Amino acid sequence: ATEEGFDLEDVEGAIEAAGHGPLPVLAVVGRPNVGKSTLVNRIIGRREAVVEDKPGVTRDRVTYEAEWAGRRFKVVDTGGWEQDVLGIDASVAAQAEYAIEAADAVVFVVDAKVGATDTDEAVVRLLRKAGKPVVLCANKVDGPSGEADAAYLWSLGLGEPHPVSALHGRGTGDMLDAVLEVLPDAPEQSFGTAIGGPRRIALIGRPNVGKSSLLNKVAGEERVVVNELAGTTRDPVDELIELGGVTWKFVDTAGIRKRVHLQQGADYYASLRTAAAVEKAEVAVILIDAAESISVQDQRIVTMAVEAGRAMVIAYNKWDTLDEERRYYLEREIETEFGQVAWAPRVNVSARTGRHMEKLVPAIEAALAGWETRVPTGRLNAFLGELVAAHPHPIRGGKQPRILFGTQAGTKPPRFVLFASGFIEAGYRRFIERRLREEFGFEGTPIHISVRVRE
Ligand code: GDP
Ligand code: GDP
Repeated sequence: ATEEGFDLEDVEGAIEAAGHGPLPVLAVVGRPNVGKSTLVNRIIGRREAVVEDKPGVTRDRVTYEAEWAGRRFKVVDTGGWEQDVLGIDASVAAQAEYAIEAADAVVFVVDAKVGATDTDEAVVRLLRKAGKPVVLCANKVDGPSGEADAAYLWSLGLGEPHPVSALHGRGTGDMLDAVLEVLPDAPEQSFGTAIGGPRRIALIGRPNVGKSSLLNKVAGEERVVVNELAGTTRDPVDELIELGGVTWKFVDTAGIRKRVHLQQGADYYASLRTAAAVEKAEVAVILIDAAESISVQDQRIVTMAVEAGRAMVIAYNKWDTLDEERRYYLEREIETEFGQVAWAPRVNVSARTGRHMEKLVPAIEAALAGWETRVPTGRLNAFLGELVAAHPHPIRGGKQPRILFGTQAGTKPPRFVLFASGFIEAGYRRFIERRLREEFGFEGTPIHISVRVRE
C-alpha cells in the first residue's frame, strides 16, 4: 500500500519516531575518573564528543539524547566535574545531587579496580535518600579476571553490580538492558494539566540577573504550604507559588536561593543545575539583565531551553534602571542575538519595583498553550497544499522537490513530519516553519520539523 509513493509502514514509522513527548532522563553519576564520560560516550554512540573537553573549559552541554533497543531517553553527563575548594566529597555530592534530582533513573559508576571508597558511600546515601531506581555499574572490568572485583561491590547494598568496560564496550549492553527495565517510558512527572498537578516553571538565567529577587517578589506572602495540596511531591527544592489565581511549581528554587559560591567549576555547576531545572520543567522563564549587553551565556541558556524542547518566556529584568539610550541598544541586541527565538513571549519586568509582574502569568500561559497546540491533519494539509502551490520549492537539477503531505506527530513541543518527493533545502524548511507559525501561532514554543523523502 502506498500513499503518494510512500510505503505506509514507513509513514507510520516516521510519525511514531517523531511523535515522542518529553523523554525520560538517565543520570550518570560517580566519583571523578571512574569513567563516567567514557560511559556516556559509549551510551550515546560517540555521536557527540564528550571526553575531549579540556580541563578548565566550561562545558555547557550536559544532556544528550540516546537510544537503546528502540527506546529513546536523555543522558545527563556529570563528568565535567572538577575538584574545587569544597573538597572532593562535597563536590561529588553536589554534582550528583543536581543530576539525581532531574533523573528518572541513575547509573552509579564505581571503579571496580579501586573498589568502594568513602566518597562512593556518600553518593550511595544520596541515592537512597532520593529513592530513584539505580543501576550499579562496576566499571573498568576489561576482561573476565576483573569480574571478581565487580562482585565486591555487592557490599554497597545497591543490588547487582554490572561488570562493564566503558572503554571497550564490554558488558555495556547488558547494563543498558537493566537500565531500560527500571527507566520509565516517560518522565516520572507527567507533562500536562490533567494529572500532573501544578505546571512546572524553571526560572533560569545567569548569575545576578535577578532570579532570587524575582522569586521573592512573586512568592511574597503567596507561598503555598506543600502538604495542603494533594498529589504534589514534597520536594524541598521546588516551591509552590500562587500567581494570577493559579498555583505553579517553581522547580529547583533551592538552587536559586542557596548562594553556593564555588571557585573552580562554578560555571559547570551552573550549567548542570540549569539543565536539570529545564528537564524538570514544562516552561522556562529565562531572565535577562536588561541593563547589560546580552551575553554568550544568555544565549547558551536560551539554546539549552530550545534544545530541551520546552516552552519559553523571556523576561528582561531591571527595567527600572534603563535609560532611553540603553533601551534603544537593547532592542537592537534583541533583534540580532535573539532573532531565532522571536516567537518567545517577552515581558519587561523589574523584580525590584514589581513592574509588570502581572504580565508574567499570561505570557507563561500563552507559551504553554503554544507548546500544546495540535493542528488537525486536514487543516495542516489544506495549508500545506496552498503553500506549496503558491510558493514552490526552487528547481534543482531539473527537478522540483515537493512537499506531498504532512502530519503533526506530537506536542510538547509540536513535532511535524513532512513527506516530500525530493530533498528539501534548509531555507525552504525555515520558510515553512515561519508560515506554520504565522498560520497556527505556536507562541512560546520551539517546533520540530522533520522531512522524509520518498525513495
Ligand atoms: P570521569 O571523570 O568519571 O568522567 O572519567 P573518564 O570517562 O574521564 O575516565 C577516566 C579515565 O579512566 C580515562 O583515562 C579513561 O580512559 C579511563 N577509563 C574509563 N573507562 C574505562 C574502562 O572501562 N577501562 C579502563 N581500563 N579504563 C577506563
Ligand atoms: P540571581 O543571582 O539571578 O539570583 O540575582 P539576584 O536576585 O541575587 O540579584 C542580583 C542583584 O541584582 C541584586 O543586587 C539585586 O538587588 C539586583 N536586582 C535584581 N532585580 C533587580 C531589578 O529589577 N532592578 C534593580 N535595579 N536591581 C535588581
